Amino acid sequence: MGRAFVYVILGGGVAAGYAALEFTRRGVSDGELCIISEEPVAPYERPALSKGFLLPEAPARLPSFHTCVGANDEKLTPKWYKDHGIELVLGTRVKSVDVRRKTLLSSTGETISYKFLIIATGARPLKLEEFGVEGSDAENVCYLRDLADANRLATVIQSSSNGNAVVIGGGYIGMECAASLVINKINVTMVFPEAHCMARLFTPKIASLYEDYYRAKGVKFVKGTVLTSFEFDSNKKVTAVNLKDGSHLPADLVVVGIGIRPNTSLFEGQLTIEKGGIKVNSRMQSSDSSVYAIGDVATFPVKLFGEMRRLEHVDSARKSARHAVSAIMDPIKTGEFDYLPFFYSRVFAFSWQFYGDPTGDVVHFGEYEDGKSFGAYWIKKGHLVGSFLEGGTKEEYETISKATQLKPAVTIDLEELEREGLGFAHTV
Ligand code: FAD
Repeated sequence: MGRAFVYVILGGGVAAGYAALEFTRRGVSDGELCIISEEPVAPYERPALSKGFLLPEAPARLPSFHTCVGANDEKLTPKWYKDHGIELVLGTRVKSVDVRRKTLLSSTGETISYKFLIIATGARPLKLEEFGVEGSDAENVCYLRDLADANRLATVIQSSSNGNAVVIGGGYIGMECAASLVINKINVTMVFPEAHCMARLFTPKIASLYEDYYRAKGVKFVKGTVLTSFEFDSNKKVTAVNLKDGSHLPADLVVVGIGIRPNTSLFEGQLTIEKGGIKVNSRMQSSDSSVYAIGDVATFPVKLFGEMRRLEHVDSARKSARHAVSAIMDPIKTGEFDYLPFFYSRVFAFSWQFYGDPTGDVVHFGEYEDGKSFGAYWIKKGHLVGSFLEGGTKEEYETISKATQLKPAVTIDLEELEREGLGFAHTV
């Protein structure tokens, strides 16, 4: 049994949704495009899972956050795919791909062939077992990547009111989940090996702004150590966690956010892999000219920094998806993907944005009080390479984004840059 399509998108997450919209904008005929996804629902805005989805009052539920609400585009419900003649094959895992033959084999035994394949398989959470700790399958140990994880976490949260949660990991998932747990009246302890939260991006000064606020909300931080084992009751439910520093923390709920690994395994030995992802060129095209990769799974050239990067953020998933479709459907007019890395997060009443590369010397500016914004610039080899802003207006975020994209020379000394603050970005 087999079906043939001109375009197949493997994976039905954020990047797939944005690619589908771009295909329809450029014009696909009924039956030309197929999306195959292991998830049982049409593509949705994954960032909602650690934010609106976990709220105790009026939580976000599908269909309200299908792509592309995050970018204020049309909302793509299952009906939208049907109306546009796009075959949406849901709840179906692809178990092998033959790049030479241009075929995929699904878990249901169907062979699907393509002329162009777009890999949008995203990533999976790293499991504690990969660090030698057993217990990930306990009913109150939660990871958060997909809707099934989010539903499970929401259920465990409901049964843990006024209880204790231990959040393992101080990155995006850890910080956003900790905030959501506090809002759900759960006592939270965060555990991570680094000296401060969001260690890959935040400076100690930026991190202290958020950590102080979390502390004021009752969150405890245990830093510089890692989880070594769980304690279980007779139902195999976790009751406590043991840390390497000897501490023992009671737990009704454990959230684990210790990083992700891109889903490349179907292509190992068939396509070039770099920095853990599928290596693509500036057209998002892999080492096989019929195969493209987008989103978290793709390692692409970031022109601004002259380096190959794999990014794990929704904005690059959206934009790389659009670029790949443009390169496939309009190869002559499509130039190089010239992407400015952009990350953001929202926790409690905070909201920050970051553009560029957090490397080099850092200059902080502003004070976060009375609704004023607070920010930082990263300067490398005399040029502005990164900008961070908390509490900015839409216009201010646009200003730092545009300034960073231009990578301007910083001719004033760093103290003056600190005094100028946002004013500097306005002058670029
Ligand atoms: P995904 O959205 O993960 O989609 C991959 C899809 O492929 C999934 O549907 C998966 O089931 C499917 N798949 C994989 N393998 C197979 C297979 N073999 N067969 C069939 N289907 C398969 N980024 C930000 O910038 N800001 C945020 O605030 C933010 N918050 C986040 C909060 C959470 C809880 C999570 C999990 C992520 C967050 N991110 C955030 C990251 C962002 O969501 C990702 O960068 C984005 O989803 C990547 O899109 P993608 O399409 O590459 O992968």
